[in-house]
Amino acid sequence: MTLRTDPLDARLTGVLGGRTAGAFEKALSLQTLGDLLRHYPRRYAERGELTDLSALREGDTVTVLAEVRSVTVRPMRQRRGTILEAVISDGQETMSLTFFNQRWRERELKAGRRGLFSGQVTRFRGALQLAHPDFELFPEGDAGDERKAQEFASALIPIYPAAKGVTSWQIRSAVDLALAQVTSLDDPLPESVRTERGLLPLTDALHAIHRPATRADVQSAIERLRFEEALVLQVLLAQRRAELRALRATRRVPSSTPLADAFDDRLPFTLTEGQLAVSAQIAEDMADEHPMHRLLQGDVGSGKTIVALRAMLRVVDAGGQAALLAPTEVLATQHHRTISAMLGPLAQRGMLEGADVSTRITLLTGSQKAAERRAALLDVVSGDAGIVVGTHALLQEHVDFHDLALVVVDEQHRFGVEQRAALAAKSREGTRPHVLVMTATPIPRTVAMTVFGDVDVSTLAEVPAGRAGVTTHIVAARDQPALLARAWQRAREEVEQGHRVFVVCPRIGDGQEGGDGPEGGEVEEASAPSGDADGDGGDRPRAAAVLELAQALREGPLAGLRVGVLHGRMPAEEKDDVMRRFADTSARDGIDVLVSTTVIEVGVDVPDATMMVIVDADRFGISQLHQLRGRVGRGSLPGLCLLVTEAEAGSTARARLDAVASTTDGFVLSELDLDLRREGDVLGSAQSGSRRTLRLLEVARHADVIADARLVAAAIVDADPGLDANPALAHAVATLVRDEQAEFLEKA
Ligand code: ADP
Ligand code: MG
Repeated sequence: MTLRTDPLDARLTGVLGGRTAGAFEKALSLQTLGDLLRHYPRRYAERGELTDLSALREGDTVTVLAEVRSVTVRPMRQRRGTILEAVISDGQETMSLTFFNQRWRERELKAGRRGLFSGQVTRFRGALQLAHPDFELFPEGDAGDERKAQEFASALIPIYPAAKGVTSWQIRSAVDLALAQVTSLDDPLPESVRTERGLLPLTDALHAIHRPATRADVQSAIERLRFEEALVLQVLLAQRRAELRALRATRRVPSSTPLADAFDDRLPFTLTEGQLAVSAQIAEDMADEHPMHRLLQGDVGSGKTIVALRAMLRVVDAGGQAALLAPTEVLATQHHRTISAMLGPLAQRGMLEGADVSTRITLLTGSQKAAERRAALLDVVSGDAGIVVGTHALLQEHVDFHDLALVVVDEQHRFGVEQRAALAAKSREGTRPHVLVMTATPIPRTVAMTVFGDVDVSTLAEVPAGRAGVTTHIVAARDQPALLARAWQRAREEVEQGHRVFVVCPRIGDGQEGGDGPEGGEVEEASAPSGDADGDGGDRPRAAAVLELAQALREGPLAGLRVGVLHGRMPAEEKDDVMRRFADTSARDGIDVLVSTTVIEVGVDVPDATMMVIVDADRFGISQLHQLRGRVGRGSLPGLCLLVTEAEAGSTARARLDAVASTTDGFVLSELDLDLRREGDVLGSAQSGSRRTLRLLEVARHADVIADARLVAAAIVDADPGLDANPALAHAVATLVRDEQAEFLEKA
């Protein structure tokens, strides 16, 4: 890549001075000139009509052309600080302007200076005044004219997303300084791309978005800058695709598939068309000499695990090994257990019960005893283990594989850059394993295009037949206390019929608030998803907690039942034990009702579980609720899910619950989720506070822009993979990577 210095990379310190720059960095994470110029106005205010002083009315927003008559400064009476009062006149009438703690304005507001003053008219002690007006003084000796005054009055005043310690007004003056530094920036958009679409050059667009003369200026600036965001992102994804295509993998083409065939013969059901089609696609991917990077999405219970297992057996048939990575130890252990059961003698190589054609499936977790772990590691390095199950840590750790052919990542949306790097370390002779990522969180098409632009996506759309499904109801705890009592009664009835009940709470309640469970599988205080505009976050009562509720249930409505608890801060062994007792109906020490946090959200499979009560359900997001609910109604028994909430009918929080109750179609829900999260106006979506990667581009609304940018990006990267001919674009991509990593670091 070409080394170059970009004026936008200049540190703010040089432009604003150390103190102000420090405040900008602290409050808004803005460090460079580019950061500041990409901090776009949230909206634009109008100064108001040019008005004579005689025509002022209280409450109007106006601009007046007048001359300063006198200025006085006095201390405030009640508080520390000063009031600066200026009296202005248009030759006939007079009025006063007041400024609090802005003594320094004395230097400019001198008697005799003429200028334009705008703000909202208020009444103080009977007289009209303008408090903290926005103003512009004419150069000394210039009386100003009507045309200038009209221009000033009709100009749009940018209002910036401010933050603690930095006001919109300060940002406005900083941007003025910054704009003065940029006169002709190199444009990341190729000229031809720009002219074809009638888009502004970068420099013009930045000036227009910060200092527009008209609303139309704002619009064309936004169009141009939004397209640029889309293009830079798509170029990055296109480059990553190209890099992946350049990697090498071993082709995994078994000459025969005895293990995979024997497994299919053992299945107690017929595979769905979708499962067969995706399996065939995966087989084709793995026959290529470039590594597969495929995302398999399918609603909870759509049968992804079988697809993964068939792929794993295929590579074992071809002589390689497969690793299955789960997000938590609970899930890894469960996978190991269910897959072992499904494979039966096929996974008992070397044992008495082992089939003629067989392999071994090995579990590797951090909490294993040393001897157990050593034996497992030996199986992995010798190749005796065809399938290795563990958590994501498996990749980071120093686990040597004999011949790792396929990595399956369960319940994850993204196989990050970091994980790909870890995989590189597991490669043999410069080849990489094939990768299959599975997620139950359906991804809207536009999001797939934006965020997952560098992987292939397959979808399991149909759910296997014979699944009884789940019915969802909302229980408004405040208005219908009897309903809640009835819910616990129903739980009792389910247990009496030999079924299992989940109760989910947002908090653990062990006094150690804040922070995730050790495996990051849950959030202690389930955070209300963004877009919750109810504004009731601060003072509402604390959400229900696992330990407290379990106790209350044992002593109250569920007395006599076996109530267990599960949360992320329990030791792995204990969690595992609880899950086993809950899953195994016949166990003496079985658990009937499991009160837990969201650790059970992903993948847990207990076919006898028929009911789930989610307490303070409004504290969870749509996709989380959908995932949770997917834990019941998985077998032939119908499931019931109750969303207990105190949220008012009609609130945003309640709208999320209504959505979840209205459909079990995960794809419909993911679109609804995207809609509910969407913020009002386009510019308004810029969150106050930190830098964001996408400021003007909204994935939900700008599918056409994204699709267009994707085509352009593909053509650019095809012709010039390193972007050597377009250093400005290369630079913009590098900046995006920097921001993306910063975001990642903040989350980690
Ligand atoms: P998920 O996509 O949520 O990971 P699983 O793979 O865990 O789903 O499958 C859920 C349940 O459905 C499992 O018990 C599995 O054995 C069963 N299953 C998978 N495929 C089929 C099928 N084609 N017909 C019937 N049941 C199936
Ligand atoms: Mg699963």
